[in-house]
Amino acid sequence: MDSDVNRFRRPGLARMLYEFVFPHYCKVCDRRLDPQEEQLCITCFLSLPRLDYDMNGLNPAERLLLTERSLERAASVLQYSKESDYRLILFHLKYWHHPRVGEWLARLGAKSLFEKGFFNGIDAIVPVPLSFMKELKRGYNQCMYIAKGVQSVTDIPILKEAVKRSPERHHQAGLGKFQRWINAGGLFTVADAQALRGKHILIVDDVITTGATLCSMIDTIQEAVPDIRVSVFTLGLAT
Ligand SMILES: [Zn+2]
Repeated sequence: MDSDVNRFRRPGLARMLYEFVFPHYCKVCDRRLDPQEEQLCITCFLSLPRLDYDMNGLNPAERLLLTERSLERAASVLQYSKESDYRLILFHLKYWHHPRVGEWLARLGAKSLFEKGFFNGIDAIVPVPLSFMKELKRGYNQCMYIAKGVQSVTDIPILKEAVKRSPERHHQAGLGKFQRWINAGGLFTVADAQALRGKHILIVDDVITTGATLCSMIDTIQEAVPDIRVSVFTLGLAT
């Protein structure tokens, strides 16, 4: 995903600043929004490639992660594909300094999952942390915005300091699937095991590609806190 972003023209600084204060353009087709539209124009909104969630079945995110790790539940809001313009939403969130689009999309996804009981029994939301340097460079952790979107629907508290990310060694972007798995080992440390003990946590991330990063985080948490239960919520699921 990170390498793919370079194929697009980055919005100019003035536009990015204006957008930060007054987000008035559709994040997918770039059309100017009407006052009643939020983040996406109505046309793009109605065609969002949303993933449905079935509480009784095995869902796509669960199918991917459950083959690797023990989880309670996992859900993603959208299909993420390199061929689809909807991936621009994730670019805006991660690279173009429009983190509120992530909060908005998380809220949208959380509303429909909430009605299905997806959040029942979950005690805390744990955003996937960025390394100190990466967050400093970006200016924010996009997963915090996703966590806030989920919290606005569920009122579940956010635990943002319980897990830390180790300094970056190699970027995951641009690596092959196998290399990503090797590279993801030991990316995280648990900073506050007491805060997690006995809880059912919801890890929130922007997109699942191979699942390597998430599985590394789940491994670290489950090793440090054996009685923890883990569910996962992401905005995108790569297909
Ligand atoms: Zn649009």
